[in-house]
Amino acid sequence: MTAFRMTGGCQCGAVRYRLHEPPVNPHICHCRMCQKAFGAFFAPLFHVPTASFEVTRGELAIFKSSDIAERGFCRNCGTPLTMQDDNDTDICVSIGSLDEPAKVVPKYQYGVEGRLPYFAALAGLRESKTTEEDMPEKAAAIARSNHQHPDHDTETWPPAA
Ligand SMILES: [Zn+2]
Ligand SMILES: [Zn+2]
Repeated sequence: MTAFRMTGGCQCGAVRYRLHEPPVNPHICHCRMCQKAFGAFFAPLFHVPTASFEVTRGELAIFKSSDIAERGFCRNCGTPLTMQDDNDTDICVSIGSLDEPAKVVPKYQYGVEGRLPYFAALAGLRESKTTEEDMPEKAAAIARSNHQHPDHDTETWPPAA
């Protein structure tokens, strides 16, 4: 029997984590605290038993967003990574920080009193791809100087020059 393994981390690679059990209750949270913490319209999160969440590189920086909850993020690059209520045996982890976020599909919406009025219209917005198509020179410059950690565990990071 092979142990369950799913990995993720922050944008800069200073914090990496591993799940030892599959994500449960994947959802998006529209509450105002999650909007602020993620700098986004909502927070994509899943639960996992705290004992099955292992930080494998670096450590979480913590902001107590209320007296009963704390949010973990990367001190170096600011990526939101976790949210945990005091005394909860589960920890919430951000879906977008997973190495393979497409594998965890949100199943419900939470905190809908904070849902932004234009949320339902987002999927219908005019579409374009990133700079590869309309700004190839900028895309090449980004690719040459990319400081984002790759979507898999690494032996050392940043790589030796
Ligand atoms: Zn980071
Ligand atoms: Zn929330």
